[in-house]
Amino acid sequence: MSNKNHSIFKYQNYVKFLRLIKKTGPLIKFGSVNSKSHGFLLRHDVDTDLKQALKLSLLEKKENVKCTYFLLLTSQTYNLLSKDNRQIVKQIIQNGHEIGLHFDTSMYPHYNEGLKKEISILSDICNTKIKSVSLHNPSVTKKYPIFKNLVNAYDPKLFSDKTYISDSRMDFRGKDLKDFLKNYDGENLIQILLHPMHYTAKSRNYRGIAIISIRNFINDYHEQLKLNKSYLKDVGKNFPKILSKKVK
Ligand SMILES: [Zn+2]
Repeated sequence: MSNKNHSIFKYQNYVKFLRLIKKTGPLIKFGSVNSKSHGFLLRHDVDTDLKQALKLSLLEKKENVKCTYFLLLTSQTYNLLSKDNRQIVKQIIQNGHEIGLHFDTSMYPHYNEGLKKEISILSDICNTKIKSVSLHNPSVTKKYPIFKNLVNAYDPKLFSDKTYISDSRMDFRGKDLKDFLKNYDGENLIQILLHPMHYTAKSRNYRGIAIISIRNFINDYHEQLKLNKSYLKDVGKNFPKILSKKVK
């Protein structure tokens, strides 16, 4: 995992990166891309933890940076239809960002129908039109479909070796984020994919990141059950704290 870009995963350094990118070129949300667009598309795919996405969106709001957050309706670990998460989605939008659909083609035998359904559910949650889509794990599914009327993060116009960099697996695969900014020619559209789960106050590896999300889950679980008196009697009101201490 050692990599010259690794320091960006600490909030403090991420903010420095945001300031640098703002000086380098315009930031564009995916839904606003047209044939004349140039600048930077800052893309966030949210795979596991919506709370981490909210935290990042707040940092970006303070720096007046607008991004596109792509959300899964089929995540194993967050449910966009829950009351709290609907609220989080609203906050991310209020922080100035666009919401796009993060879509897993492997969920459906006929993914065009699946896409239609998910777009409709997500626009209902966001109370706005969904204009963009990014694919979840396309390198695993080996499917790169282009959908009508949606800006697609994997459209060849937005996705080429020279114009795309990603922090997938916390590894920039030999590319250097700073070089991407330094070499920016003022004409291209550069797509930068960063996964919110990787960004925290201290620099952490996957073990540290997983612990944060597991603690979030323990809290959510307890919040959901604490009105149940039998549950509360069995576990005690400090149960999340006790469990969290064990996860370290
Ligand atoms: Zn994904």
